[in-house]
Amino acid sequence: MYHCPSCGRSAQPGRAACECGADLTLLATLDAMADAWFNRGVGALAEGNSGRAVEWFAASAAARPDDVEALLALALSWARLDRPREALSSLDRAAEKDATHPDIKPLRDALPENPDSMKNNLNRARKRDPRKKYRIRRISE
Ligand SMILES: [Zn+2]
Repeated sequence: MYHCPSCGRSAQPGRAACECGADLTLLATLDAMADAWFNRGVGALAEGNSGRAVEWFAASAAARPDDVEALLALALSWARLDRPREALSSLDRAAEKDATHPDIKPLRDALPENPDSMKNNLNRARKRDPRKKYRIRRISE
């Protein structure tokens, strides 16, 4: 979904011009690219390449800033990279667009409440017992 830059009306899918007469072909192309980039992100996540997924979802969200799904996918990708601060930032942006989206709360609940203190706790635990493997909890599928 995108809007006419001239009059703000919602653009009808498949139409090259707005009712006001503005040419929407470039916007339609950008919208299609946002879809393609989103799908590349989904593929990267499926391959376990969360870093690449972040790049695709970030590109998709930049091309279509109101796309809550892209922001949520971006949050999930950051979480899989053990980057809860960035994941929370993406979730906050998604919540600004659609606070009632059903995926926001489960994703937020799976993240540590305070990423900084969590990292500090982990580092303290590692110092106490360096032989033991401590891992930051990952979000599962
Ligand atoms: Zn228009």
